[in-house]
Amino acid sequence: MKLNYKDVLIPPKITNIDSRSKVKLESKKKFKFSRNNWEGIPLIASNMDYVGTFETAKDLQKNKILTAISKYYSDSEWVQAIESGVDINYSFITFGLENPNKILDKIHSIEDLTNKTFKFVMFDIANGYLVKYHNMINEFRKQRKDLILAAGNVVTKEGVKAISDAGTDLIKIGIGSGSVCDTSTVTGIGYPQFSAVDECSNEAINLGVKIIADGGIRSSGDIVKSFVAGADFAMLGSLLAGHEQGGSPIKEINGKKHRQYYGMSSEQAMSNHEGKKKSYRASEGSVKWIEDNGDVNRTVEEILGGLRSACTYLNVSNIDGINKNIDYITVK
Ligand code: 5GP
Repeated sequence: MKLNYKDVLIPPKITNIDSRSKVKLESKKKFKFSRNNWEGIPLIASNMDYVGTFETAKDLQKNKILTAISKYYSDSEWVQAIESGVDINYSFITFGLENPNKILDKIHSIEDLTNKTFKFVMFDIANGYLVKYHNMINEFRKQRKDLILAAGNVVTKEGVKAISDAGTDLIKIGIGSGSVCDTSTVTGIGYPQFSAVDECSNEAINLGVKIIADGGIRSSGDIVKSFVAGADFAMLGSLLAGHEQGGSPIKEINGKKHRQYYGMSSEQAMSNHEGKKKSYRASEGSVKWIEDNGDVNRTVEEILGGLRSACTYLNVSNIDGINKNIDYITVK
C-alpha cells in the first residue's frame, strides 16, 4: 500500500520543549558534490509562474527561505534583480532541458555583469527519467563543480540513482502529486507522494545525496510529514500561490478578489510562454483561481508557526530533529 500525506499522521511525544520560541528552524546542509554549504529554513518556493518571482524571493530570503526563480526571466532581469537586492544565497536559477552551453552562457553572463557567483542551480523537467536529460546534467556538472545542483523530477529509486549518478546534489521527488498537476489523469503515471519521498530518501541516503519533496503539500502539517518521510527540503507551490508578491492576474469572483495559479504544463502556461500549445502535446496541468492570500510574509509566519508547534509536540528543539526517526501511523 502506497501512501499520500493525507494517509498518515504523527503521534505526539512527551516533551520538554515548553515554548515554541525555543525551537530553531534553521538547518545546516552539506552536499555530495558541491563544496558550498548552506544554512537556512529548508523550504523552497516552487519555480512556477506567480510563485517563483523575484518579489517572492526578496521576502522569503529575510527568513532564510529559498526561492526557485522561474526559468522565464531573462539575463537582464536577473542582473537587475541581483542589483536590487535578490540574494543568490537563497535563490536558484532554473532551467529546463536545454543545451548545456547555453545554460552556462546565461549563468556566466549574469555572474560577469553582477560580479557575483551563483550558489544554486536547478534543472526541472516533468519526466526526470529521460537519458538525454541525465547527459545534460552530467555535461553541465563537468563545467561547474562548485554549484549546488538540484534536478528532478523522479519518484523511484532508479530515478534517484540516475539523477544522482549524473552529478546532482539535491534530487526533486514528485510526479503526479502537484495541486495543479494532471499527469496521473492524462497518463496514468505517478506515485503517492509520502511513499515516493520515503522510498527515494532511502536510496538518497545510500548514495549520499539529498532530496526535495515537491508537490502535494497543502499545509504546514504536510511539510512536517514530508520531513518524517525523509525529505531534506520541502518545495511549495500552491501554499505560496495567490499572494501579492506573485503578481498574477486578478479576477473578482462572487465579490471576492481571486488570483490565478496554474500548472507549468497547462495550456495556459504554454500559451503564455510559447504562444500556443503544440498539437502533439497534451496539457498536463490545470488552471485555478484562488482567493487572494494577501502578503506572503503573513503566510510564511503561519507556516513557520506550524513547524515550531510540530517541533514542540515531537520534543525536538531543531527542525533537523523531524526526520525518519519519527514514527508515523497510517489512517483511513
Ligand atoms: P503544489 O505545491 O502546488 O501541490 O505543487 C507544485 C509542484 O507541482 C511544482 O513544484 C511542480 O513540481 C509541479 N507542477 C507544476 N506545474 C505542473 C504541471 O503543469 N503539471 C504537472 N504534472 N506538475 C506540475
